[in-house]
Amino acid sequence: MMKLALGISIHNKLAAEEDVAMLKESYHERCDCCGIPTKGVNVNPLWIEDFGWKNACDLCFLTANLDQIPSIDKGVFIFCPKLTQQEVNVLCRLSWAVSFHLEKSKVEIEVREAADTLSIIMSRLTKGASDARSYFTPAINDVDSNVAYMNLMKDEEYAQRGLIYEHLRWMPDEEVFRESTRWYATEVFNQISIHHLQSQVDMFMNRISKG
Ligand SMILES: [Zn+2]
Repeated sequence: MMKLALGISIHNKLAAEEDVAMLKESYHERCDCCGIPTKGVNVNPLWIEDFGWKNACDLCFLTANLDQIPSIDKGVFIFCPKLTQQEVNVLCRLSWAVSFHLEKSKVEIEVREAADTLSIIMSRLTKGASDARSYFTPAINDVDSNVAYMNLMKDEEYAQRGLIYEHLRWMPDEEVFRESTRWYATEVFNQISIHHLQSQVDMFMNRISKG
């Protein structure tokens, strides 16, 4: 399975002209990492070790370029071995979209139920922040501290960063993604059937409840 690892830009490959052209060619209006539709929003070239160049949505791109988060609200690192980073990204987007609709309009009872389950899942993820502190150090939650740490790594140490970050995930801050959340909530979320929403939310709930 393709692994989206936490990272920073100075260690990342830069896309050459031919890489960008190839990505344009292979672009099928979805993020190659998390699978969300991206029609109408920007995607960025992202090099994934062993998998090559990918078209990445803003959330997946910033996961690997944490030093480029365009805000002082950078989110937190959490301990979350049960979900991949891509799944955390999808969950965040789903939960933000549901909140967007709950704020703006009347929603169906099923969406409200999904919202309740999503908020339980998100609070479990948030608890992963204190788990990370107890397994590592209090500074582990802080994105800037980790960026500074990765900055000091030599290339070979950076390549081995999975030894530390294997079970840590970035939980992004919603503020940074206001615009793409609005787009996702109105253009993508509205196309998702209630049935699909429920089964997706149940799947995530099962995954984080297991063992
Ligand atoms: Zn993505």
